[in-house]
Order: sequence, then C-alpha cells, then structure tokens
Amino acid sequence: MSSGFVDKAVITVRAGRGGDGAVSFHREKFVAAGGPDGGDGGKGGDVILLVDGHMSTLMDFRYKRKFTAADGENGQNKRCTGKDGASLTIRVPRGTLVRDKATGGIIADMSGDEPFVIARGGRGGWGNQHFATPTRQVPRFAKPGMPGESRELVLELKLLADVGLVGFPNVGKSTLLASVSRARPKIADYHFTTLTPNLGVVYVDEGASFVLADIPGIIQGASLGAGLGHDFLRHIDRCRLLIHVVDVSGSEGRDPVEDFQTINRELAAYSPALAGRPQLVAANKCDLLSGSQEALERLRAYVTAEGYELFEISAATTAGTRELMGRAAALLATLPPIVVYEPDYVPPAPDLGSPEELDIYRADEAWVAEGPWMDRLVSTVNFSDYESRMYFDRMLRDHGVYQRMEDMGIQDGDTISICGMDFIYKP
Ligand code: GDP
Ligand code: MG
Repeated sequence: MSSGFVDKAVITVRAGRGGDGAVSFHREKFVAAGGPDGGDGGKGGDVILLVDGHMSTLMDFRYKRKFTAADGENGQNKRCTGKDGASLTIRVPRGTLVRDKATGGIIADMSGDEPFVIARGGRGGWGNQHFATPTRQVPRFAKPGMPGESRELVLELKLLADVGLVGFPNVGKSTLLASVSRARPKIADYHFTTLTPNLGVVYVDEGASFVLADIPGIIQGASLGAGLGHDFLRHIDRCRLLIHVVDVSGSEGRDPVEDFQTINRELAAYSPALAGRPQLVAANKCDLLSGSQEALERLRAYVTAEGYELFEISAATTAGTRELMGRAAALLATLPPIVVYEPDYVPPAPDLGSPEELDIYRADEAWVAEGPWMDRLVSTVNFSDYESRMYFDRMLRDHGVYQRMEDMGIQDGDTISICGMDFIYKP
C-alpha cells in the first residue's frame, strides 16, 4: 500500500436540476394558433453511492471532490418531454461510512452491495400542455424544474477486519501479519513505520479464514489526539477480536506488563467498546529470550490473572503463530458479526420561510413575489386542476400577498409573475 493513505475525505454531491416545462403552441399549416403543447422537463439525475470491491482506500477523493449529476433537459414543443439527466455513480471502498458534514450524523454505511441514492434529482417542471382548460385556452405559463438535492459529505473508511493487531511500535505487528498472510507490510526498526493499516487474509487449517489488520502503532496519548495514533485507531473500530502483541525480549528497554497496561488504557480512552473486545496476548520475540524468561513469566502471570490467554510466539521464525491463529479462528466462530453502523442522520427541516418574508417587487410590466414559502406552495399546486388553482388563489389572499401588492399600487389587469408563471390580477 502506498504512503499517504487517505481514510477520510470530504466531498460535495449535487443531483441534477429538473428541466423546465416548455411554453409552446401547436401550429399547423392554415391553423392560426393551436392549443398549448409544451412538454414537461426531464428529471434531474441522482447521485448514487456504490461499493466497489476493488477499492481499498479513499485516495481517489483527494483530487476529485465535487460530483454533479446531469440536469434534466427542458421540455420541447409538440408535447416532447425533456430527457432525464443521467445519474452519477460514485464508487467507494467497502466499509465507507457516509456522514453529513454539518451534523456528523451517519447517513449510510456502505458495507453491503445495495446502491444508495445520496442526492435526488429535481423533478421536471410541467409544460403548458397541462394547463389547457376550457376557460384558459392560451396558457402562457409552464413550471420551472426543481433543483436537485445537494450536500456536503464526510466519507470515512472503516476497515472490515475481523482481528486487529494492537501494541506499541516495533513489537512485531507487521512481521506477524507478513508471516501468517500474504500481506507484505513494511517492516523496519524505527517507530511509525506503519503509516497505513495493512490487511491480510489468514487461512487456518480447518479451511476457515479471517481478515487480520496490522494497525499502526498506538502511542501514549493517542486517544487524546497526540501523534498519529488517533486517526489510525478508527480502523480497528470494527474488529471483533484483538491480538495484543507485546515485545518480551526487552529489546526496546521497556517493561512488557507496563506496555500491556498502557495500550489497554489508550484503547479504553479511545473507545470503551473496543477495549471491551476479547483479546489474545501474543508474547513476541521469544526467539531472543536467551536464558532469562523473567519478563515473559511476569507478563504471563499478570495477563492470566486478568483472564487473558497468552501465546508465546516469534513472528520472525513463525514459532507459535499457527497455534495463535488457530485459536483466533476458533474464537471468531463464537463471536457476533462485525458491527454495521445504523444511520442516525436526521434531515434538517427544510427552509419553509413565511409569507411575511416574501420578496414582492415590480419588475418591468409584472409584479413579482418570490421566496421559499412561495416555491413550496407552487410545488403543491396542480395548475391544470380548478380546485387546486382556487386553493392557490385563496392561499395568496389569506396570507396577505394580494394585500401587500394592493398597498404597493397593483391595478386590475396587471400581471403577477410567480415562479416563472404569469397570472392576470383580478381584485
Ligand atoms: P511493528 O511496528 O509492531 O509493526 O513492528 P515490525 O513488525 O515492524 O518489527 C519491528 C522490528 O522487530 C523489525 O526489525 C522486525 O524484524 C523485528 N521483529 C519483529 N518480530 C520479531 C521476532 O519475533 N523476533 C525478532 N528477533 N525480531 C522481530
Ligand atoms: Mg508495523
């Protein structure tokens, strides 16, 4: 895996706008003016999220951050409906958690194979073909298309590892992963080698397999955001079992019991849930124990008293690693499946505005009234239906819109323009 692993990305998605309805009149040779035949606008394209099993990072989102689906085409004459805008599919690695940037709420957990519509395209507007009525033979209005949904998202990659390797830097986590799987993590003798988590599949004798993650070194204070640890800890959130690797060779001059306690404190501070996962203790670098087993025995006494199982291993020579992996597989078979995050995002109430906040002004020959309240009202009205039109008229009257225009000097027969539609004012 390359360095600069991106495990978090902020992107903006915008669904397509619906096409506008057309204002058009049927024309035939020798017929002066026909009926209205303006077609409807097409629907705007959706923005869709889909898991791609071949992706393992959010790297692609480092350069491309804005995703926009196509707008619907406008309606045409001769009752031709505009073409729907094409949807846009964004591929994400399995285990991507999608949050609303503003609230942090979880919108979706992209762990399964179902596509998820993250932003819906706007509806197309109605063409004037819908507005022909016996009393209004020449409808000069059509509805504009509705805007598509747009939102800012935080993508967070949660690795779907069954087992996580935790422990101080340099205790041999990468070496262990490499010795029991085909993963080839970087191994070196200095801290922070492992800047990216690595995954490997471990096959055990009985035909069972599981995913093992080599988790970058947790350092003291990591849970408080010091160093690099905090970000990386997120990767082990979903592990069902932890293998806690402890260096018992004393090669770094630290005490193994203290190491064990420190790492567990860090885990608990970061996530009590994670600290509560079962742990197997891997006493590593046993090949270096020449003579003195004192440190190993002290660790064994401590952890067994605390209820953990300890395995003496050498990741370098692979001694003891089969037994450890076999035990991990057996335990996994008894543990609940990986956590799937439940969406907890509550969409904010839309900006409804109020009739008092409407902008009313005179432009050219028409009186214009605009604002969120009006947009919403118009979207509920079916202008080809008499009852619905009467409702619209009543709403404008009851909420003082006509009164405000009268105060500003509107006259009988003046044009009122609302959402691109023209009406003739009759007091
Ligand atoms: P990590 O930071 O926990 O991933 O540790 P690494 O796997 O990178 O190992 C750190 C150093 O310890 C490397 O030089 C390894 O070769 C060495 N090492 C790891 N496991 C063993 C072991 O079992 N025996 C010996 N002798 N050296 C080991
Ligand atoms: Mg490592």
